[in-house]
Amino acid sequence: MRAIILTLTLAGLLAGDLYSADKKKPLPKPLRALLITGGCCHDYAKQKDILQQGLERRINIKIDHAHSPDKSTKPPLKIYGNPDYAKGYDLVIHDECSAGISDPKVIAGVLAPHKMGIPGVNLHCAMHSYRFGNFRVPVKVTDPNGKWFEYIGLQSSGHGPQRPIDIAFENNVPFITKGLKGWTTQREELYNNIQVLPGTKVVARGTQSNAKAVVAWASEYHGARVFSTSLGHNNVTVADKRYLDFIARGILWATKKESWPIAQPKNESFDLNSKPQPASQKKKIKR
Ligand SMILES: [Zn+2]
Repeated sequence: MRAIILTLTLAGLLAGDLYSADKKKPLPKPLRALLITGGCCHDYAKQKDILQQGLERRINIKIDHAHSPDKSTKPPLKIYGNPDYAKGYDLVIHDECSAGISDPKVIAGVLAPHKMGIPGVNLHCAMHSYRFGNFRVPVKVTDPNGKWFEYIGLQSSGHGPQRPIDIAFENNVPFITKGLKGWTTQREELYNNIQVLPGTKVVARGTQSNAKAVVAWASEYHGARVFSTSLGHNNVTVADKRYLDFIARGILWATKKESWPIAQPKNESFDLNSKPQPASQKKKIKR
């Protein structure tokens, strides 16, 4: 019971933090977001909850899930075959890992809401989803296999080993990076850049040993704002306060809610059950 009261108090405090600037004004309706998770190679069962909790604590957003527990590269997400899947939502957050979904008709259905102007936020393996043909060389956005990359705003084909990444922000989209300071992740995947498409703005660059790549960017797709970051392989990154602050800002930018406040949750913790454990709990890796 005490835990419940504490949780409620915390929720109340956070809501208070969000709107204390002008209490007379009614709360704006929360953003409604659909978070898509599932597929290969990642702990989406945990990450979907970390993202929901972390983001709902920070900004005025209500997140629904479209999750598949399937671990293949072709997770049977319920959005497939339903181009209206985002009806009623202000935003779609793509965090699926569907590298093997290659039917152009299905992909067109995934893109349909964004083509109609619904903003998108894309995390990590979304960049490596919906691939077919020769995606390891620069594609044209007019090519059948270029449609997803056109939406993403950048083409990536793979990554190297899991090692820490040094993140450095750039000031090309000032709202997203306001107040943020670069940091070094724990073990992460640095996604390569086959090409950064015209019109895409670099938000952050990453350095991992000798490799460098754009790791966060902003673009426009048929008038919709799109924010993407290739960071977010391991739970420990996804649950990092700095990562969640960053994604929260990207969401407010994509949905043009830059005037909305962002709360700073105190003593935040998540049930990680993560693989791997934070580096501090592991034997030092020889590098
Ligand atoms: Zn990954």
